[in-house]
Amino acid sequence: NAEAKSQNIIKRNSKLPDDTIPRIVALHHQFATLTTEVNAKRSLQSTISDRVRDAKTDDARTAARAEATLLKGELKGLQAKLDAVHEDLLNLAILVPNDAHPDVPVGPEENAVTLSTHGPPPTPADRARDHMAIAGALDLVDGEAGAMAAGSSFYFLRNEAALLELALVSYALSIATKHGFTFVTTPDVVYANNAVRCGFHHRDAATQTYHIETKPDSPKLVLAGTAEIPLAAMFGRQVIPKKDLPKLFVGLGHAFRAEAGAKGAEAHGLYRVHQFTKLELFAVTTPEQSESMFERMKGVQLEIFSGLGFPFRVLDMPTEQLGAPAYRKYDVEAWMPGRGAWGEISSASNCTDYQARRFHIKCYSTPKPGEHLYSFAHTLNGTAAAVPRLIIALLENGARFEGETVVGLDLPEVLRPYWVHNPARDII
Ligand code: AMP
Repeated sequence: NAEAKSQNIIKRNSKLPDDTIPRIVALHHQFATLTTEVNAKRSLQSTISDRVRDAKTDDARTAARAEATLLKGELKGLQAKLDAVHEDLLNLAILVPNDAHPDVPVGPEENAVTLSTHGPPPTPADRARDHMAIAGALDLVDGEAGAMAAGSSFYFLRNEAALLELALVSYALSIATKHGFTFVTTPDVVYANNAVRCGFHHRDAATQTYHIETKPDSPKLVLAGTAEIPLAAMFGRQVIPKKDLPKLFVGLGHAFRAEAGAKGAEAHGLYRVHQFTKLELFAVTTPEQSESMFERMKGVQLEIFSGLGFPFRVLDMPTEQLGAPAYRKYDVEAWMPGRGAWGEISSASNCTDYQARRFHIKCYSTPKPGEHLYSFAHTLNGTAAAVPRLIIALLENGARFEGETVVGLDLPEVLRPYWVHNPARDII
């Protein structure tokens, strides 16, 4: 289906050269031809060694040995060619994006389809509700300290903003675990090739990824851009009986984003920062289960955000916004009156077998005793809580004003059970 794959690259605006798929097809053809040649020469090799062993005369043995030496040289050359073609083939094939669900809208971000809108009606845009103005008035965020410690777009959350981080994570976790997700905390450092297996390619690596210096002969390490990477790696090389699927995990980790080139409203305050705490839903399913699991994951996300009381909407993201791994992606945007715009607070992707192929995660059924039918598993991921954007939505929608002065913050009732009360401050 080379033609369909080429069309998919165009629909996704994947920025891969136009001849990517024809090159892969040509390399695969070369790979198959060379493999056949190598196999033929190998079997010839074993015939010749039989002739060396069974030779009746010295002359016959010498002649057979000479042939064996010649063949060995030929095989070495062929094998080197095969290895090079194999490497070229894999390096290109790994870049091929996932197919897109037939219902995904085609085109750029503006073509996203709003699937549903939730919460109260959006209030008018209001600059006084800018989250950094509110944070300044209530002493909630210290950007200067962040810049001193690690550079701009790092920050210290203070007082109720720091308490919100704890409460938001625990609250979102309580809903995820209620829906059967197992809680894990994840490594914040991962092998660079695991990021690539997840679909974060070299292009992202240049602008998005923090690299860790390692010894020249050690595998490359990066800071995880999302807990999705260690969560997917957790299943690497697993072969799972279908009856044991789905596997559901919710991982707590820090997301690190180099975010080169972010500017304007995007870079303002907590909107686009270099490090943030994120609670991530992750599922491994059979191929048959992934579409219903995707809807189930969306349900968990909607339950989390509905409790927080701000206006939000769910978008079916178009082809150019799917990245390489997603077959379908739903984003959630919250209304942020201080920004005067909807801002993405979460994203869920059905990656079907894209990551499973690259991590070698398989599943099997057993139609008859002793008979196994194998296929690649499917993986899905979704944000349960990306803390800074939730804080923006809560501050901009929930700050209490007296006249023009910010005096406090309305705390959603659902967060109360997880709230650490600070008696020295009376703003909640
Ligand atoms: P992503 O893994 O890029 O889909 O991001 C998941 C969620 O994390 C997004 O929906 C945002 O809410 C949040 N997010 C992504 N990048 C940043 C960033 N640089 N700063 C703060 N929040 C972010």
